[in-house]
Amino acid sequence: MIILGIETTAHTFGAAVLKDRTVLSNVWDSYSHPERGMIPAEVAAHHVAVCDVVIRQALEKAEKKSKDVGLVAFSQGPGIGNCLRVGATAARAFAVHHKIPIIGVNHCIAHLEIGRLIAKECTDPVLLYASGANTQVIAYDCGKYRVFGETLDMGVGNFLDQVGRLMGLGFPAGPKIEEHARLGKKYIPLPYVVKGMDVSFGGMYTKIMHMLKEEHDEELVNSLCYSMQETIFAMLVEVSERALAHVGKKELLLGGGVACNKRLQEMCAIMCKERGARSFALPNQFNVDNAAMIAHLGKIMYDAGVRMTIPETAIRPYERTDDVDVVWR
Ligand code: AMP
Ligand code: MG
Repeated sequence: MIILGIETTAHTFGAAVLKDRTVLSNVWDSYSHPERGMIPAEVAAHHVAVCDVVIRQALEKAEKKSKDVGLVAFSQGPGIGNCLRVGATAARAFAVHHKIPIIGVNHCIAHLEIGRLIAKECTDPVLLYASGANTQVIAYDCGKYRVFGETLDMGVGNFLDQVGRLMGLGFPAGPKIEEHARLGKKYIPLPYVVKGMDVSFGGMYTKIMHMLKEEHDEELVNSLCYSMQETIFAMLVEVSERALAHVGKKELLLGGGVACNKRLQEMCAIMCKERGARSFALPNQFNVDNAAMIAHLGKIMYDAGVRMTIPETAIRPYERTDDVDVVWR
């Protein structure tokens, strides 16, 4: 079966074509702004402007025609309502026009399922999902993907982007912070906040904001980027390790845009090696928001018997990972 996936939870409009479990194409166009982050209506307008072209690119790259598609899957939530609505509308129009089934999927769970597909030896992982808006430690237990720990305030990517804005690095700032961190010479102690299984970044943001007000030179920016990465990634590794121990699993999977970070990948690999577990990092195209994971989750839900009527495809901006009954495992 040929599956078309559509992803629009936030800044990315993505489209992908899969043939069963093979990714034929995975393309996207992301909104970005040099001075500020995302204003929902603006991002949605971007998605409307590019949706036609991106879907066509995905089909062309896969060497498929729209009439070849047998299932359309889209991200139903969680995410920004304005953005989700664009993807849902495109998916409904496609499904109704071609008289094919449509399935809305949970974006966070899609990050975990694409890991199980792409990293063949990764079968039952704890997922460290570190993205712009989301920071969660997720694992399967008793019919659901359960959240074992999460951020109490902002997502780790949003934290990096906000600090990056203070530093004038543009949006998204994560990749630039990674470059500056390599040049950092001095470790500056920053608030390390782990509460039980949860993490919080607000205190660190405030401290960095005050430091940058007093002084703002290249050397300080480099050292802050380095110190910030070491501190927040250590927090994430700590809760991931505790989740592995608690649920007795032996695989850690990284997902979300921040999982592109080589230092985070390295720290997770060291922790896993020390406790006899394995750490899996995916190619970047499957870490960032992507439609391949949406198509794949749609297909495995479809194979498990899930069907949706058009009214059931209403968006779910606030859907939680553990709201979803995992009928396919
Ligand atoms: P997502 O929401 O999953 O698409 O991820 C987007 C987030 O990932 C943004 O906040 C980016 O700043 C962040 N990001 C992307 N690449 C990196 C990187 N190399 N290091 C840290 N953060 C990154
Ligand atoms: Mg994501």
